[in-house]
Amino acid sequence: MAAGMVEPAVPGRLSVITGPSGVGKGTLIAALRQRHPNLWLSVSATTRAPRAGEREGEHYFFLPRERFEQLVEQDGLLEWAEFAGNLYGTPRQPVEQQLAAGRSVLLEIELEGARQVRRSFPAGFQVLIKPPSFAELERRIRGRGTESVEAIERRLTRARLELQAEAEFDAVLLNGDLDEALLQLETLLGLPVEPVTSPSA
Ligand code: ADP
Ligand code: 5GP
Repeated sequence: MAAGMVEPAVPGRLSVITGPSGVGKGTLIAALRQRHPNLWLSVSATTRAPRAGEREGEHYFFLPRERFEQLVEQDGLLEWAEFAGNLYGTPRQPVEQQLAAGRSVLLEIELEGARQVRRSFPAGFQVLIKPPSFAELERRIRGRGTESVEAIERRLTRARLELQAEAEFDAVLLNGDLDEALLQLETLLGLPVEPVTSPSA
């Protein structure tokens, strides 16, 4: 490029991770972030109540339903959906800022949201995480022990629909062995792959 010319800003890459509740999305992403501290993960807004240990602004922005609906009206969300009785959405501005600055952005969202992002960012890369079996998914979500029996049932019903949507994704990743899945996810997201040296579960 000739001296004095301004290099065009190269927008960052947008990646979406989707998968049924309890499949291990949070676990995989936490491990990814430890290994790649520069990876930028969008913090969603939700009307769900915080789980023990979840912190405002770190895990989610926990909002009353009226405030969430205001954000929708103001076009403040890139996508949003109702999931198992609660609303979830991606704040638009931070994502657009990160992409404009050339950073890679990761969204962890459910299927309806992924479909909306597919329309607004057709070039985005979308990965579906799937469990080794439905029985194993059930074991994981019950074993996590964060939801009521009723909420678990709603999530498992939804899981069947999500797992039928495989063909809509750019890649499908089996989360059987955690370390193996982590390495595969790094490859899919175009991150430098390093050996897993410590237990990540
Ligand atoms: P999600 O974010 O998709 O709802 P979590 O990351 O909370 O799921 O994982 C649900 C449960 O499954 C957690 O107790 C987690 O420790 C466990 N888990 C995650 N990945 C694996 C794996 N590969 N093998 C066995 N258990 C796993
Ligand atoms: P949880 O209540 O277990 O944290 O999340 C429930 C579901 O909502 C998960 O499938 C998660 O990926 C999804 N989710 C989290 N944030 C968002 C978001 O901003 N938008 C959408 N559409 N789904 C989200």
